[in-house]
Amino acid sequence: MKPLTLALPLALCLCASSAHASDKNLHPSFPMDDGKATLTFDFTNAPDLADWGMEKIAPAIERWYPRIATMLASPGFHASKTVVVEFKTQTNVPAYTEGHTITANAEYFRKRPQDVNALVHEATHVIQAYGSADNPSWLVEGLDDYIRFYIVEPETNGATIKPERIASVHYNDSYRTTANFLHWLVKQYGSNVIEELNAAMRDGRYKPEIWIKLTGHSADDLGAQWKQNLTATASN
Ligand SMILES: [Zn+2]
Repeated sequence: MKPLTLALPLALCLCASSAHASDKNLHPSFPMDDGKATLTFDFTNAPDLADWGMEKIAPAIERWYPRIATMLASPGFHASKTVVVEFKTQTNVPAYTEGHTITANAEYFRKRPQDVNALVHEATHVIQAYGSADNPSWLVEGLDDYIRFYIVEPETNGATIKPERIASVHYNDSYRTTANFLHWLVKQYGSNVIEELNAAMRDGRYKPEIWIKLTGHSADDLGAQWKQNLTATASN
């Protein structure tokens, strides 16, 4: 019996030690570039994605989170010092964000590991922190994609509108199309338009009249001018 009693504590000890090691691998933390915030992963449901997440996702969010937080600053606001990225298998969208927690669809990222900046898009939602404010979702998503496609990855031309689509697009189509509209708006009126729209949505002050206040034109008028510009640029 003696060898058995010796073997049991040894086995328990090995189990405890390997459980501790794997827990650390499944919940790694990284400081953001500014040293003020922390990114933490939860790979419990997708341990196969841990190496990819640490190599690709961590550097992208570490780099961009502090920069986007500076870009979307507003008086009295402090971006969350914590960002959590957790992977789930039972979700039918690529990713979504609640508070400071980003939930990523493990299946989606297994198929599209190159779509790293989809999670920078989600980290931008953490910074937006619009909460339950009654903001137009097309503008929330369009502003987020404006940051992604014109600041984070302009080289991909991901929000460029092909000539054959110009006739059917609308400024409030959301995501990349609204991002293209906002890019045009910034060229016309300066980047403070983005800062003002962000601050108003964050503070629950957004009203349709804000477009007139910022530019002298309604959103519909601006949308019409944007489409004229798209058409003129395409025919050049
Ligand atoms: Zn989004």
